[in-house]
Amino acid sequence: MSIMHRARRAIFVTSAFPFLLSPVAKPQTSATTVKKLKVYISVDMEGVAGVVTADQLGPGGFEYERFRHFMTNETMAAVNAANQSGATEIVVSDSHGNGESLLIDEFPKNVRIVRSWPRHGGMMAGLDSSFDAALFIGYHASTTNLRGVRAHTFSSAHLTRVSLNGNAVTEGEFNAAYAGALGVPVIFASGDDAALEELKSRLENIETAETKKNLSFHSAETLTPEVSRERIGTSVKVALARLHDFKPYAIKTPVTLEISFKNYMPALMLSYLRTVQRVDSHTIRFVGKDMAEVSDFVDVVDGYSPDLAP
Ligand SMILES: [Zn+2]
Repeated sequence: MSIMHRARRAIFVTSAFPFLLSPVAKPQTSATTVKKLKVYISVDMEGVAGVVTADQLGPGGFEYERFRHFMTNETMAAVNAANQSGATEIVVSDSHGNGESLLIDEFPKNVRIVRSWPRHGGMMAGLDSSFDAALFIGYHASTTNLRGVRAHTFSSAHLTRVSLNGNAVTEGEFNAAYAGALGVPVIFASGDDAALEELKSRLENIETAETKKNLSFHSAETLTPEVSRERIGTSVKVALARLHDFKPYAIKTPVTLEISFKNYMPALMLSYLRTVQRVDSHTIRFVGKDMAEVSDFVDVVDGYSPDLAP
């Protein structure tokens, strides 16, 4: 369903100066109409300015604590830009690693934050068709890209390719298809040059902010955190100002998902399920009725282990 066809809910506010009304006076009904603007922000970390190795990406890394701030600040740049553009509600999803990287006390009151895993919808958990736009912060290139800092798709440890309806996808494209199925367009992404080039080859007219130029899997020529924040803020405002230009990225259903593993055993074991086909030694195929089902399937494949506790 296109955003153009979705009913826009309006909130009626009474006079901006209620204290000027006498106690018996009824509130003015000739109120101002405020349009709702709900913005969803999915945040990863590999595409944040300065990130080049695992030293920045997880609790074991010596620079992780500093980079949680930088990641939060890049997200705040998008939040502030959205609020300055009239956002009425914002949901931010902490979608990197343990899902507990963002510093939640830094955000203004109209923001809610999705944390930790598992959660239906993965990196887009909490998104529904009431949202007007989705933004990606800190996104990275896919596992099939020859370039890109820490390029991977969902799991650098386990997966070598994820495809939808025959096309290898980035996390960004997968998540855009998830949002598209709900009628929500992705209008902005930040990350390194390889990530943005790859994403723009599918989501043509999105606004972007390049945070660094990749030099290899573990090297980049990066902007400073301050300049990166400024670029994100500027581009998010441009994107929201032309919101009507964007269409949800909807793909054909049912959706054919293929996943290639680094190792042989996951493909072998999963093929015991009658709903899963083994395509080759390292690859399985699953057909889901929609992106929600495909997203849940990916989460099971990458998240399940008999050692799970509690
Ligand atoms: Zn990622």
